[in-house]
Amino acid sequence: MQPLLKLLLGILFAAIIAFGAYRAKSLSRSGAIGALIEGSLIFGLGGWQWAILLMAFFISSSLLTRLFGRKKASLNEKFDKGGQRDIGQVMANGGVASVFAGLHVFFPTAAWPWVAFAASLAAVNADTWATELGVLNPTNPRLITTWRPVERGTSGAVSVYGTLAAAGGSALIASLATICTTSLHLGSLKYSPVFFFFLLLVSGLLGAIFDSLLGATIQAIYHCPQCDKETEKHPLHTCGAQTDQIRGLKWLNNDMVNLLCATLGALVGILV
Ligand SMILES: [Zn+2]
Repeated sequence: MQPLLKLLLGILFAAIIAFGAYRAKSLSRSGAIGALIEGSLIFGLGGWQWAILLMAFFISSSLLTRLFGRKKASLNEKFDKGGQRDIGQVMANGGVASVFAGLHVFFPTAAWPWVAFAASLAAVNADTWATELGVLNPTNPRLITTWRPVERGTSGAVSVYGTLAAAGGSALIASLATICTTSLHLGSLKYSPVFFFFLLLVSGLLGAIFDSLLGATIQAIYHCPQCDKETEKHPLHTCGAQTDQIRGLKWLNNDMVNLLCATLGALVGILV
């Protein structure tokens, strides 16, 4: 297909998806604009194999946000926003993947942009699944650093359900990527399919673990004086009160942590 036609079709397809997700209230207005930009780059510059991975992430995470919505709302304040993603969240999750879809244009036969793209989506998918399903764990999670039991939804907390969900989220992207790779004709890719699958699976899991480690250590954490609760939200808590920072680095908010999770996944993918 001609590059220009492919790009135009990519933009059209991305616009349909972004508008649909906005109407379905999976994305806020700014989130829809972010999804349009990312989708145009990934569909228009990558191709259908790239689109399949992005859609798998997007659809599975939107569905998981909606599933068990009431149960999650009662368990954790994080889930009471109705699950609408804004542009910061969209860019944090798909931004790294978009960059590698763009790099594919300059290195069309190289395997590494595809590997990094798939690994970064495996990482954000693992993290999203872990966040959405981990909260359903029957017992309280433990902090990844000290192993101390903490409240559900605490940044850096890990649980059995969350870990299994992370593995499932990473495995979904890894298996789709392995299937799609055969039709990509990437000259420099010399892995066996089994090795490729496990490479992506591990990249995704390491990204999610890195996310939890940052959450438990240097991510910016705030306190809401009205609810007397720890939260990632700033400047305003979900109750509307102003939150004060209690620890972590000011610039390292939740979106930044997700961005680093995606970057680490991509780096592991490339380096191995
Ligand atoms: Zn509050």
